[in-house]
Amino acid sequence: MTTATPELSIVIPVYNEELNLPTLFARLYPSLDALQRSYEIIFTNDGSADRSFELLKAQHAARPDVTRVIDFNANYGQHMAIMAAFERVRGQIIVTLDADLQNPPEEIGKLLEKMDAGFDYVGGYRLDRQDSLFRTYASRLINLVREKTTSIRMTDQGCMLRAYSRPIIDAIVRSGAINTFIPALAYSFAGRPGEVGVKHEERHAGVSNYSFYQLIRLNFDLITGFSIAPLQYFTMFAMLSSVGSLVLVAVLFVRRFVFDNLDRDTFGVFTLFGLLFLLLSVAMIGIGLIGEYVGRTYQVVRARSRYHVREVLEK
Ligand code: UDP
Ligand code: MG
Repeated sequence: MTTATPELSIVIPVYNEELNLPTLFARLYPSLDALQRSYEIIFTNDGSADRSFELLKAQHAARPDVTRVIDFNANYGQHMAIMAAFERVRGQIIVTLDADLQNPPEEIGKLLEKMDAGFDYVGGYRLDRQDSLFRTYASRLINLVREKTTSIRMTDQGCMLRAYSRPIIDAIVRSGAINTFIPALAYSFAGRPGEVGVKHEERHAGVSNYSFYQLIRLNFDLITGFSIAPLQYFTMFAMLSSVGSLVLVAVLFVRRFVFDNLDRDTFGVFTLFGLLFLLLSVAMIGIGLIGEYVGRTYQVVRARSRYHVREVLEK
């Protein structure tokens, strides 16, 4: 099944998945063999602290023809792990997958059928999502915000079971994007994006590697990384509220000097306090937002390498 340039590249980020890897290997390789297409699987060990890398090494020794392993020196996050693999893929169709078996490897065939039908980017959406209610609803909310602020249309941006044509991967690598949300970035390069429903399973073993804080950061990346609309909305909001405060000040003046029915000491003082707090909060949101964009610019300008690969196991 090996050729120098396989048809398929499967990309899997691995972070502390020692409990899942044996089952993943046992299900992934047979389901790929069954597809009758040449393939390679690229695992990126994202600085796991458990025995994941040893297991990957053993798997590379067992199936060196189709297995490649990239070893990071530290944990750089799921999307960086995928990026490192993207820089090295040899296949014409690239499929990303989670290592915890939440994306059943048996579903890869569905994506490929859709790719064969002429789509250049096929996103999976989870038919029966097996995540906590909180994750599910938070993700719907983010979906809504993203649809309002960008032109990216995806049913399920959080589903990592996706197929990409090679030109899209090349464009992603060339873009040199950092802090990026790969499914959305790929969408912006796609000519004919499609979607297909895929099964979703509960995490095979262990717990999610994402903390609440990381999820917030990731979703912030998703929004500020793809449009400056939040900045524009903010400006509009700030303009509206300053008009509002001008009106309020005018009312105060009229009541004080025209009708002379304002108890200056109480009503006036508290109204001005209210105004002050309003403007202050608008200013603070604005500073935060601008800071986010400036921060992104800084990272690009600094252009420090995004991750360090310690070792690559490949034939
Ligand atoms: N992952 C990674 N680096 C990280 C966190 C996660 O490579 O810092 C990998 C993890 O091994 C898995 C995938 O990314 O293959 C998704 O992670 P997880 O299942 O924890 O996320 P969730 O399914 O909860 O979104
Ligand atoms: Mg998972």
